[in-house]
Amino acid sequence: MTPDEERLLRRAVELARRAREDGHAPYGSLLASADGTVLVEAHNTVRADRDISAHPELKLARWAARELDPAAAAATTMFTSCQPCPMCTGAIDRSGLGRVVYALSAEQHAALQPGGGFPRVPQEGPALPEEARVPVDGYYT
Ligand SMILES: [Zn+2]
Repeated sequence: MTPDEERLLRRAVELARRAREDGHAPYGSLLASADGTVLVEAHNTVRADRDISAHPELKLARWAARELDPAAAAATTMFTSCQPCPMCTGAIDRSGLGRVVYALSAEQHAALQPGGGFPRVPQEGPALPEEARVPVDGYYT
């Protein structure tokens, strides 16, 4: 990590600290262009928005997919206070961002939570694959 990248990562941690001070969950992220320019910043607003998806990483992934062309998105780096959760990781992958740099790993984060985080919801299937494939078949050609 370069000194400039370390400065950007420290900024993400600062956003997390300020979020907690303001009564939000303590997570912050920013998106930087290849030259280190901060394009957008976000913090967790799950409580204020009453929206379980209001994670900063997801907000930035949505912003990039909406506002940047694919080449510009691929040239960005997300700096985030904690390793993105599975929900945000899926959105980041779909957004086409270039890379993610995080300050605290998911494992280190889980160690700070009583119970270690959210339980996994069981998933069952495929239950009707022949019927369910009909509306999808041919869509991506
Ligand atoms: Zn998340």
